[in-house]
Amino acid sequence: PPTLSQIGNQMSALTGVRAIMKDIIETLRANPDESFINLSAGNPVILPEVEQLWRDCTTQLLASPDYGEVVCRYGTSQGYQPLVDAIQKDFNQRYGLNLTDRQILITPGSQALYFLAANAFGGATETGRLKKIVLPLSPDYTGYGGICLTPEALKAYQPTLEIDETAHRFKYRPDFEQLHFDETTGCIIFSRPCNPTGNVLSKAEVKQIADLAAPFNIPVLIDSAYGPPYPSLNYTDIAPILGNNIVHCMSLSKAGLPGERVGIAIGDERIIQILEAFQTNVCIHSGRYGQAIAAQAIQSGALAEISVQVIRPYYQAKLALLQSTLDQHMPSTLPWFLHLGEGAIFAWLWLKELPISDWQLYQQLKRVGVIVVPGHSFFPGLSQDWPHKHQCLRISLTATDEEITIAMQRLVPVIEEVYRSN
Ligand code: PLP
Repeated sequence: PPTLSQIGNQMSALTGVRAIMKDIIETLRANPDESFINLSAGNPVILPEVEQLWRDCTTQLLASPDYGEVVCRYGTSQGYQPLVDAIQKDFNQRYGLNLTDRQILITPGSQALYFLAANAFGGATETGRLKKIVLPLSPDYTGYGGICLTPEALKAYQPTLEIDETAHRFKYRPDFEQLHFDETTGCIIFSRPCNPTGNVLSKAEVKQIADLAAPFNIPVLIDSAYGPPYPSLNYTDIAPILGNNIVHCMSLSKAGLPGERVGIAIGDERIIQILEAFQTNVCIHSGRYGQAIAAQAIQSGALAEISVQVIRPYYQAKLALLQSTLDQHMPSTLPWFLHLGEGAIFAWLWLKELPISDWQLYQQLKRVGVIVVPGHSFFPGLSQDWPHKHQCLRISLTATDEEITIAMQRLVPVIEEVYRSN
């Protein structure tokens, strides 16, 4: 094999949850007859109404005189103009804004957007100084762990915990006593709603972060892959927060289009232009086919409508089922806590003072045919040795009702036994 560069070595290694996915795939392959209930998936469910929407948009595209223009030509790096226009119009109408079309950038998925931002604003400067990519609340999206060409630039902060002992619920809050930005901060990223926890930072918390960052002109990227208006996987009332140094980042992946790779950034024109130029160098532009069908679904209002009418209730019902199953079966004497489910497609279970590691618990759950994701891979950039990192599990809501119920019923005795025998 060729000798790799430092970056080559780094970028060809699997990070975070991708490494665990490998173990999961191997487990499933090695035991084809065992009926595992797989609650590890991050891949959204294919909902019939959503599939039909994209089919209809495709039919329209095929019949359109623009078809050749869409698939037989290069476009601008900023994005397919009808999509940019549709987003501009939709946001201005929906949220009473005055966005210009120069404030919008389309990327091949939002993962690519975070890569562009992390390396445009983070890493070594020309004077040799290290600009950090700050995750203000850890745990957060595991994919942030692989986006920095200078991995040491990634810095995450431990949160504070708000615990409701009787209800067995908890919530992470940013720790503003610790959180600190200055001229060595390159950019700030967090997901809202959060994968893996379902947390939603409040408007006041977001404003406080943005205000702390503003004097240093630090871009604040709010990863709204699960936010409104598409896919609207928020179970508390939230609206996008825009303005000044905030870059509002979206993805159509959870709105039924993960394969087409459509990410959207909305923000200050000067920030957008930097990301756009970087994108030209990396990949020229996102695919135009996905952008064209997205333009139709947004223009017609169908995407926002289906998000609220179909996508949100689907996962919200799964979450309610998971919560009630655990509430019913988990002994109230055990220190188990579910994170408040304010959005996204996962439940996050914290087992306080768990006597074994999350990885060991994951292995034990595999033995009863349940696959979840051990939580430690969702703390990218957090260097502190915090026991909490090894006390959590991420449970996907993409399974059927029956699978969720059975899996939770199998999980309870395993956890009881772990606390009892250790
Ligand atoms: N951000 C969050 C919080 C995610 O959960 C995901 C995917 O799971 C992404 C970003 C990346 O999504 P995509 O690149 O498909 O837009």
